[in-house]
Amino acid sequence: MAIATLVAVALLAHSNVPASSKAAPPRSTSSSSPHAVARVTRAATDTALPGVDKAARARPNRVSPPTPTPPEPAIIKPKGPIPFLVSASVRATIKKCYNRTQNVWLTFDDGYTSQANLDSILATLKKYNVRGRFFPTGSWARTHASMVNQIRAEGHYVENHTGNHAHLNRLDDAAVSNEIATGQAASSSPKLLRPPYGDGAYTSRVYYLAAQQGYRLCTWGTDTMDWAHMPASVIIKKAVTGDARTPPAGPGDTVLMHLRNTQTRYALPKLIDGLLARGLTFDTLR
Ligand SMILES: [Zn+2]
Repeated sequence: MAIATLVAVALLAHSNVPASSKAAPPRSTSSSSPHAVARVTRAATDTALPGVDKAARARPNRVSPPTPTPPEPAIIKPKGPIPFLVSASVRATIKKCYNRTQNVWLTFDDGYTSQANLDSILATLKKYNVRGRFFPTGSWARTHASMVNQIRAEGHYVENHTGNHAHLNRLDDAAVSNEIATGQAASSSPKLLRPPYGDGAYTSRVYYLAAQQGYRLCTWGTDTMDWAHMPASVIIKKAVTGDARTPPAGPGDTVLMHLRNTQTRYALPKLIDGLLARGLTFDTLR
């Protein structure tokens, strides 16, 4: 034990000697010199290595392989069926779509709608001076550019809802990144990405993959369930008063609706009236 400690101290001391002095003769030949101990230890090692033939040792020094660079911090991937979740406070922020105001945000997803449906929704938003956020899929937006331009021209935001309305938790990292890249480019700041079905929206994996392309994740606070073909009266009730399944919209909340549902346009005026009557405010166009 004492010898090992002495050798370790000796090697440590030796490593601190400047390179220019390493070839210099020892200042002392005393066996108590740490330099002397270090030389003895190395010499013993050179001649006593088992299993190494002399020819190999005689070869000139080869360039040692470069030290591998430490890898970039890995993106956290789900392990097993339950993916890592972002923290509760980040989840709350994602549900509010990074809305830092008290205004309620009305959101309209997907596309796949008729011109009459879109015209009606846009006319109501204009009448009430409410700015909406639209999340068309990239594939629909590319084939319906005039409708997307119409939405944007009226002062609304257009956001990313992936290229093909994919379940992000079912895709590997490269495919998720591709779905984001082929989605409609967001026009807001921060840019928002709403994962279809909310799939993966609270996982750290999708969080980081979205962030790599400058996106913040966005889900919703109140699901009107218009996607389930609810009648207009139910859509209004869910947003304004809530029900057993859905909390009503509150200050700074987001309300989920869909462009394609035929009842949404009929629900929208009373939905806005009901929230205004509760003292809530909206993002405005003017
Ligand atoms: Zn959708």
